[in-house]
Amino acid sequence: MNAKSHSASGAVSHGISVEAAQWASVVKQAVRSVIGDPSGAPIALHEPEFGEAERRYVDDCVTSGWVSSVGSYVDRFEAMLREMTGAAGAVAVVNGTAALHVCLRLVGVQAGDEVLVPSLTFIATANAVAYQGAIPHFVDSDPERLAVDPVKLSAHLARVGVRKPDGLYNRETGRRVAALMVMHVFGLPADMDALQAVADDFGIPLVEDAAESLGSTYKGRDCGTFGRIAGLSFNGNKIATTGGGGAILTMDSDLAARAKHLTTTARVPAGWDFVHDEIGYNYRMPNLNAALGCAQMERVPGFVEEKRRLAENYRRAFADTGVQVLWEPSDATSNYWLNTIFLPDRESRDAVLTATNDAGFMTRPCWTPMHRLPMFADCPRDDLSVVEDAVARIVNLPSSPKLARI
Ligand SMILES: *Cc1c(COP(=O)(O)O)cnc(C)c1O
Repeated sequence: MNAKSHSASGAVSHGISVEAAQWASVVKQAVRSVIGDPSGAPIALHEPEFGEAERRYVDDCVTSGWVSSVGSYVDRFEAMLREMTGAAGAVAVVNGTAALHVCLRLVGVQAGDEVLVPSLTFIATANAVAYQGAIPHFVDSDPERLAVDPVKLSAHLARVGVRKPDGLYNRETGRRVAALMVMHVFGLPADMDALQAVADDFGIPLVEDAAESLGSTYKGRDCGTFGRIAGLSFNGNKIATTGGGGAILTMDSDLAARAKHLTTTARVPAGWDFVHDEIGYNYRMPNLNAALGCAQMERVPGFVEEKRRLAENYRRAFADTGVQVLWEPSDATSNYWLNTIFLPDRESRDAVLTATNDAGFMTRPCWTPMHRLPMFADCPRDDLSVVEDAVARIVNLPSSPKLARI
């Protein structure tokens, strides 16, 4: 079946068109052929996986008594992150949103500034901008990769940007444009060379939201090591989890030291005196969470391998169906955090969501784009037609690593 093979007659059965019902049945069948039927509970969108090491490290942490803000698992977790990604510095924090907030502060974003942000992202990206007192300025996505479109961004900045001695300004709002945030959507790497070139062209720092892309690479280099600084998430639904948690990565050791200082209340060594030299945050990751994280980090390469195999299985199952699968470009490898398909339109998307969830496969639509949310509705933005089109047609499929073992 493909988009052209059936009539657009608009015949309706059970409240949806025949065509939408056909797409629903095609997707349900393809998903079933890859991950089997649910036995009892529905098949989750993304489930964490724990083993013996997780139990042992957490037990050891509890036994030691060092469950809170001090302990060796935090150091070990940070070292494992550096080793895996090649980052010069890694700082473990309470969650991915907090990581992004501190990243923005560290690159010099101030209250009243604007930050260029994709509209197609999870709420945390835009919230982090607001926490810093800044205003998100939404930009469109590349239809192939779903991340910020460098060509469209460059044209937009050429139109609305004005260069002044202290930086780039938005000629329409009069506000400084202080940074560009880029997010690797569903684990698929953005076109980092092109985006870095735009950031350099306009003299703004690039911040990576790598929350979904641990283990993904662009031109052989790990996501989270591009731009000036990056935020990662270790929430329960991400590729590896610390329960809740996040990390800041950077190739700049001085910036990493600043990140550590700011996220640990900005306390300076002064014997037993409490001396803090600026307003910092209590954003550190508890040792108990880091213990779980150390065990999870040992498994990340295995998770990524399984998730890539699962993605390949989905790709084959959808090959002749006319359903488009989000697939990595030749310059990148994706961790396939969430497998993603595109339906022809919103109606078939909705029919697919209903049919698959009714059958016990937990699928979900894309996020509401940021510029459609009430608190961000009045923010500055470029044309967002690619985002509008994509969010109406995307469905995410169950993507737990264990589904590759069926
Ligand atoms: C998960 C996620 C975050 C951070 O989320 P936390 O729940 O705060 O750890 C940030 N950005 C994106 C795109 C995410 O998917």
